[in-house]
Amino acid sequence: MLHKNLSVNDNGHLAIAGFDTVELAKKYKTPLYVLDTDSVYESCVKYKTLISKYFAEGSKPLFASKALSCTEIYRIAEKAGIGIDVVSGGEIYTAKKAGFPLKNAYFHGNNKTDADIAFALDCGVGCFVVDNTEEINALQAEAERRGISVRVMLRVSPGIDPHTHKAVVTGSVDSKFGIAIETGQALEAIKLISGCKNLLLEGLHCHIGSQIFEYDPFAEAAAVLIRFVSEVKAKLRISVNALNLGGGFGVRYTDEDPEFDYEAVLSKISASIKKSCAECGVEEPKIYFEPGRSIVAAAGLTLYTVGSFKTIKGYKSYVSIDGGMPDNPRYALYQSKYTCLIANKAGEEKSVCATVAGRCCESGDLIQEDVKLQHCERGDILAVLVTGAYNYSMASNYNRLPRPAMVAVGREGDRVIIKRESYEDLVRNDI
Ligand SMILES: *Cc1c(COP(=O)(O)O)cnc(C)c1O
Repeated sequence: MLHKNLSVNDNGHLAIAGFDTVELAKKYKTPLYVLDTDSVYESCVKYKTLISKYFAEGSKPLFASKALSCTEIYRIAEKAGIGIDVVSGGEIYTAKKAGFPLKNAYFHGNNKTDADIAFALDCGVGCFVVDNTEEINALQAEAERRGISVRVMLRVSPGIDPHTHKAVVTGSVDSKFGIAIETGQALEAIKLISGCKNLLLEGLHCHIGSQIFEYDPFAEAAAVLIRFVSEVKAKLRISVNALNLGGGFGVRYTDEDPEFDYEAVLSKISASIKKSCAECGVEEPKIYFEPGRSIVAAAGLTLYTVGSFKTIKGYKSYVSIDGGMPDNPRYALYQSKYTCLIANKAGEEKSVCATVAGRCCESGDLIQEDVKLQHCERGDILAVLVTGAYNYSMASNYNRLPRPAMVAVGREGDRVIIKRESYEDLVRNDI
């Protein structure tokens, strides 16, 4: 199977972490998100172990909350002893509710409002990843008013395009995020921060993209940052001791995606950083990574009940399911690839080719087009694999559909970690 937590059991059913998905669908109803929480925990620990093995002391992973934010995730992150990145008051609130120590949180975003800044400071968020000069000034003013010091990292755009990076295009200098190094504005921002008496510069941050399977875009970004660190040292006499290289490690969604060897990639990034530091005469900085997708994606899958299988003669076949773009908007948004199968016939040959359609009044409401599936009919359970990231966190109530429940499976058995929304939940805020 695609990932080692997936198997076909003796009943010919799809299992995740040894749990029969057909039984889970029966017990908890569909649509249903299932999350293998042991595998989430193991991924956190794997990152922590590898990062401390290959990078300078104090280097660490921060889980990128936007991939999946719910209280259980923050409990796992805390248990694994890793930090988190958060991008909104809502994520901060959720982490706080979970009892996560927010001093280990890094607050991102290109537009943190005054209310966000105040809330984050009230909650004791450890570090702000500042994005622009107005935010720096607003944060300084608020920190001064409170009489406290705040750690900051400056988000810079290194001008690396991860997909055409061989040409080292300056494409991502043109970005809504961060401050460009190339234009000299990042240096100005460092100068500004160093003049802010309530702000302490922890380091630099960049995030170059997503679904990256090679090491070299990270190595190139790090090289740009390290050159900038030496420029900052030479021109401003400020030493920068930490680089946050963001997230973006690739995940295997279908058989066509490669297996990702984290140790090989991280060790190559490490070797390249050591070389860049030696060339620029700077001390090896602490390195942070912010994996989101690669921690939770493969730990999750979604179960749906098939409502119909129709074949339009001379055209194609459609399978209609009891969920769709409200619980997984990724195909509708950017044609993301997924592996689908009929969970109660997982041991059978995939003999048909069909488009998996959601139940919304929207022709673009598709989960996948023209995929191989086992023959199916009303009442079968359709599984979409590798949905742990950017599914629940992107879910909506479009067509007034309640969001599905999420069930954790693992050593502690199976249990609901997010309740299914009720119709009453849908009208809760209506007046
Ligand atoms: C999206 C994002 C991440 C996580 O990316 P993944 O592809 O999920 O690993 C990390 N850091 C920042 C700043 C991001 O915007």
